Amino acid sequence: MSDCIFCRIIAGEIPSQKVYEDEKMIAIKDVAPAAPVHVLLLPKQHYDNIMTADPELVKYMLGKVETLATQLGVKEKGFRIVINTGKEGGQSVNHLHIHLIGGKELGWPPC
Ligand code: AMP
Repeated sequence: MSDCIFCRIIAGEIPSQKVYEDEKMIAIKDVAPAAPVHVLLLPKQHYDNIMTADPELVKYMLGKVETLATQLGVKEKGFRIVINTGKEGGQSVNHLHIHLIGGKELGWPPC
């Protein structure tokens, strides 16, 4: 989708700090990190959110979390994955993405 910022990042039209890429997804550093480690896992195919996405693709992306957590140095100490969905869920970019956040002690609840 030409008006989707994450599609434009995936297409290379907007620069990003990529930490992982394969045929189905990329992972990039969040431009406004909430913690020392904050990356976004983005499927290359556009889905507005988790409700419209192919569950097999979501499963595939979740399957990459351990690899990325290891690569980013947060596997042992712990981290959080978040999928904000819809307006009240805090989703600001309507292209499915999984936040992987860590590198410090995180608070809960998030609101
Ligand atoms: P959400 O609020 O769950 O939709 O998360 C969207 C995330 O995308 C936010 O954490 C933003 O900081 C991040 N973001 C927005 N634009 C960019 C960009 N160009 N590069 C990297 N991260 C971005």
